[in-house]
Amino acid sequence: MSVAENFREIKSRLNDKIILVAVTKNHGVELMREAIDAGAKNIGENRVQEAAEKFQTLNREVTRHLIGHLQTNKVKQAVKLFDLIESVDSQHLAAAIDKAAAQIGKVQDILIQVNLARETQKSGVLLEDLKAIISFVDDLENLRLRGLMMIAPNFPDVEQCRPLFAQMRKLFDELKTSRDNFDFLSMGMTHDYKIAVEEGANVVRLGTAIFGERSLTNGNHRQI
Ligand SMILES: *Cc1c(COP(=O)(O)O)cnc(C)c1O
Repeated sequence: MSVAENFREIKSRLNDKIILVAVTKNHGVELMREAIDAGAKNIGENRVQEAAEKFQTLNREVTRHLIGHLQTNKVKQAVKLFDLIESVDSQHLAAAIDKAAAQIGKVQDILIQVNLARETQKSGVLLEDLKAIISFVDDLENLRLRGLMMIAPNFPDVEQCRPLFAQMRKLFDELKTSRDNFDFLSMGMTHDYKIAVEEGANVVRLGTAIFGERSLTNGNHRQI
């Protein structure tokens, strides 16, 4: 199946309220255009430099999500490029984004990435640090906290993700009751998104399911 067919097929099976982010990392701008022309309204990239190059020649309107770990030295560029930074994982990074957003008169939408499974190789805040970063972000005028993001571990049996997704959903719902604009729970990738959606995700980030396998030569499939 083509990219357009894959995209439409997946989209047609998802509830309209769920945001499908087409993850175009390691793929060229042509495939990005193909997905957008098939109806994609949201694009996800994990590296600032790679995204900058593609967006420059994209020539399409689309909502841009940064889904990869953001280094402080790339913050200025990221704030110019992305509508939603999903991968905020420290107070230090939040402060840097706020400063860069203030400089260009922008209020930057962000998600906080939670490392619920406490995987040492993954970024994201630990559960016990979540409250502190949220209140820190609340004091920053140029950030708007829109929700939470989580990357589930790569379990041998994908069903093992379910309790983690359910726990995130609970956390999200609790926070949402006392907050404005807290709308997005981003979880679910190609191998686990169906379970994520069943457990309450309203943003899913799909690369392989839409574009096929990324090449191993430039791929960083498992390095997040
Ligand atoms: C690469 C990536 C995805 C998409 O992964 P697939 O398994 O190809 O769907 C989703 N989220 C993040 C954070 C990623 O880096």
